[in-house]
Amino acid sequence: MKQKYYVNNNPQSDKGDHEVHTATCPYFLLMYNRTYLGEFETCQAAVLEAKKRYEKANGCRTCSRPCHTS
Ligand SMILES: [Zn+2]
Repeated sequence: MKQKYYVNNNPQSDKGDHEVHTATCPYFLLMYNRTYLGEFETCQAAVLEAKKRYEKANGCRTCSRPCHTS
């Protein structure tokens, strides 16, 4: 099932990663400055899209766990 993905325009304060979230993630509402990436089957595809904008893009640990690297 496709999901809508967004990237946080504000980098994480610890590593500078721009996190990728789905629209249903509990952290989505806390992401005030975000860019819509599109609808994707997998978080991998969403992170790839996010990396066109931000070199350091990373999947959210909560909603995109398979794409989260620490
Ligand atoms: Zn998330």
